Amino acid sequence: LPGAGYIGRFAPSPTGPLHAGSLVAALASWLDARAHGGRWLVRIEDVDMPRCVPGMDRTILGQLAACGLTPDETPVWQSERGELYENALQGLLAADLAYPCGCSRREIELAVQSQGLELLRHAELVYPGTCRHGLKGKPARATRVRTLDRRGHDIRIEWMDRRLGLQAQDVTHAVGDFVLHRADGLWAYQLAVVVDDALQGISHIVRGEDLADNTPRQIHLQRLLGLPTPHYMHTALVLGANGEKLSKQNGAQALDLRDPLAALKQAGEVLGIRCDAGRLEDWLPLAVERWRTTWLRPVA
Ligand code: GLU
Repeated sequence: LPGAGYIGRFAPSPTGPLHAGSLVAALASWLDARAHGGRWLVRIEDVDMPRCVPGMDRTILGQLAACGLTPDETPVWQSERGELYENALQGLLAADLAYPCGCSRREIELAVQSQGLELLRHAELVYPGTCRHGLKGKPARATRVRTLDRRGHDIRIEWMDRRLGLQAQDVTHAVGDFVLHRADGLWAYQLAVVVDDALQGISHIVRGEDLADNTPRQIHLQRLLGLPTPHYMHTALVLGANGEKLSKQNGAQALDLRDPLAALKQAGEVLGIRCDAGRLEDWLPLAVERWRTTWLRPVA
């Protein structure tokens, strides 16, 4: 059956309205699902509550609807799914695949510097492993996952991206033991996304290239939790005036809903999909067809 088993998703964080950049990720994941004859879900990733803006979830869903991108199931909100993340975390702790960490940020910085290790990588600290063998009397703050295997070997992840090709990362060196549950009590994106992708049966993940270097961490977690690894595709980004990924900070404007077709056409250009139609309901099926011929290899 064509599309049987394909489930894709768009997983926005409601920190602001959709803009030209996030529309590209939404459109790409929708096109890929439609081109496969599969289902497309929307998940509101609101675990990082301090960064979320009240009402933006509804705004985003309204913007998607205005663009003709409607999910095949009722969206889910990560803020309502803490119990599921807790279960996963307890499983990892019980298997000694994760451990409590009592380090403050300052302590981590000092330890990193004293070991002469690289301090900052994408503004994230590579954790030096201080609490790997116990808290030594410190109160637990965060929970981290181990990035050494049972034999003490590095976790090296290889994966095939449908657009970027073969990718590899030594998670142990590039990231270190990363946080699953934060010192402030919030769930980390890495854990929530892996649990939800699996529980929602997501078979294909299509998202912006800025997230590509999270993928090895997510595959590592999938393996520890005994979960399947979806197919991945990371799309081109819309760049802001400073050459970095378009974001609120570098001038992204909320989508202009007076002309959703123009916004979709622009997003299509970024994805290499150019087609002409005067109406939204005509453009979308053309774009699906164009996507199919561009990204779906016919089965030999
Ligand atoms: N919530 C993440 C974001 O908006 C995307 C997560 C994902 O697609 O895996 O950046």
